[in-house]
Amino acid sequence: ETAALTLSAQNLTRHYGEVVAVHQFDLQLRRGEVLGLLGPNGAGKSTTLRMLTGNLAPSSGGVEICGIDLLDKPQEAKAHVGFLPEIPPLYFDMTVNEYLLLAARLHRVPKEALKAALENVKQRCGLEQHSNNLIGTLSKGYQQRVGIAQAIIHNPDVIILDEPTVGLDPNQMREIRQLIRELGTTSSVILSTHILPEVENVCDRVQIMHQGSIVFDQPMIDLRQQNTSLESVFTQLTQ
Ligand code: ATP
Repeated sequence: ETAALTLSAQNLTRHYGEVVAVHQFDLQLRRGEVLGLLGPNGAGKSTTLRMLTGNLAPSSGGVEICGIDLLDKPQEAKAHVGFLPEIPPLYFDMTVNEYLLLAARLHRVPKEALKAALENVKQRCGLEQHSNNLIGTLSKGYQQRVGIAQAIIHNPDVIILDEPTVGLDPNQMREIRQLIRELGTTSSVILSTHILPEVENVCDRVQIMHQGSIVFDQPMIDLRQQNTSLESVFTQLTQ
């Protein structure tokens, strides 16, 4: 049995004047899938993520989230998406609890569901012991857990993470990667990163973008079976 589609993007294209930032991006993502989105600087990853989260209108093409058209019904569709931007919108002078309450409000979590939602994300992100700590006093790794917690406070079906392990030490990276794998068991995850071993370690499937187009899209297991390194594929396709 195949799991339900959570995200479907068709022919997503975005121009900036003469520049084609993204050209005919296609993606069908199922629950339980973790997709790695790779590409050199300027390949079009950020533009793609912004279109998938409904923060940027495509020049053409469309996106459905859990069967809801993102352009027709943005509020309804966005309720199923969680996003961690490259620079998480953290407030260092708030406690973890205060911040997650704010995030819950922004994501329109119903009042009667607030307490359970907070407990749930703190548990999933390993933040139970830090509820009343100021975010500014947490380590970079724990701050990133808070960033992920705000992205999943409304229990989204699609979780989009933009370079979530940048600037972390190896231990913190390992913990965040483990967390991402866990998120991928119940939702769909898109992980944009520059770190190839991270994709090998965490993802079920990899897409490589180059100059606005998808130049590679394969299950990780196929690469492993062919004994092909992601590094060699990436280098060949993006030079
Ligand atoms: P990075 O890894 O550096 O973030 P990226 O893969 O996310 O790169 P994008 O930021 O999506 O790439 O950019 C894709 C292309 O679109 C680039 O050529 C970029 O210069 C161009 N571009 C992006 N945003 C704009 C904008 N607001 N105006 C004009 N051109 C833009």
